[in-house]
Amino acid sequence: MMVQPIPAAKPIIGKEEREAVDRVMQSGMLAQGPEVAAFEQEFGAALVSGRACVATNSGTSGLHLGLLAAGVGPGDEVIVPSFTFAATANSVALTGATPVFADIEPTYFCLDPAAVEAAITEKTKAVMPVHLFGHPANMTALQAIADKHGIQIYEDAAQAHGATWNGTQVGSFGEFAMFSLYPTKNMTSGEGGMNSVANADIERRMRLLRNQGMLKQYENELVGLNNRMTDLHAAIGRVQLTKLAGWTKQRQENATFLDANLQGVAVPAVAAEATHVYHQYTIRVTEDRDGFANALRSEYGVGCGVYYPIPNHRLPSFKRELDLPETEKAAAQVLSLPVHPSLSEEELNRIVSAVNTVAKAGA
Ligand SMILES: *Cc1c(COP(=O)(O)O)cnc(C)c1O
Repeated sequence: MMVQPIPAAKPIIGKEEREAVDRVMQSGMLAQGPEVAAFEQEFGAALVSGRACVATNSGTSGLHLGLLAAGVGPGDEVIVPSFTFAATANSVALTGATPVFADIEPTYFCLDPAAVEAAITEKTKAVMPVHLFGHPANMTALQAIADKHGIQIYEDAAQAHGATWNGTQVGSFGEFAMFSLYPTKNMTSGEGGMNSVANADIERRMRLLRNQGMLKQYENELVGLNNRMTDLHAAIGRVQLTKLAGWTKQRQENATFLDANLQGVAVPAVAAEATHVYHQYTIRVTEDRDGFANALRSEYGVGCGVYYPIPNHRLPSFKRELDLPETEKAAAQVLSLPVHPSLSEEELNRIVSAVNTVAKAGA
């Protein structure tokens, strides 16, 4: 191929991140310590309206510990979307509770509040919306349903750092909310997760569960895990946090450019209440999505991704007989185009002309 392929995602690691890691290396103290404490503080102030935060070694650990800290366990049901990464339902299942899959609404790919309400039983402990692709779930409607039925809200905000709903940052709604810091997410710590928590009780239980059930050495209060973040990872995350707002603005500008110039495909909609942070820029291709994606990759060098081709309820790990029509439709039609902040103007133009050419050929 003559042209340089455009990657679907690209973590940006700068000199500041390398220097931060080196600072921790030179200190000789690598495990959880002052860098993690500072990162928790700074993340809370910047992204969740000052709520307390607890760092973990991955987003999945954050979900798992958040659920355990909220008291979720055998006999409980937690309503989740099927159209998401498997970590959402996996973390529920690992507590011994049952993930109950509800359908999404078609416009923003997030949980459909009416489907959530229909899925509530006397065992329902909570609903855990995913702010998929960086677009918030309908928190107004979900909050009303949660209040009406006396269930809790937990947020999977893995893909939505900085997104807002009615002016409130996501991650500020639930009993707890998890942000992933995996390298392809909107910011990274290498691997890592950050939970925001609603109160001191759940915060304390998360801190205990993260560290073998102890806050004081050898005074184990609970049965816990080692899900601690290291100071090396926190040092990377602290630098990335200072760059996040600029990257988000660039993602949004890239999305605006794609919105204005793509033809023949359905571009992502944004709810009036929402700020979208474009973790993914996801279009719908109604005919032969896989052929469309292959043409973009092989003929034009445009990296693109299908998130997610198999809904959770049909994975061998869950295998449920369910009728979730909007979930099935999305799984067959979605295609995410590059929107990451390091795209050049030339690359954005190439994405537009490639998509428009393939769309026209298929029409
Ligand atoms: C990435 C992701 C997770 C898991 O986060 P990790 O940091 O990879 O463990 C959970 N839920 C969603 C929706 C994600 O995209």
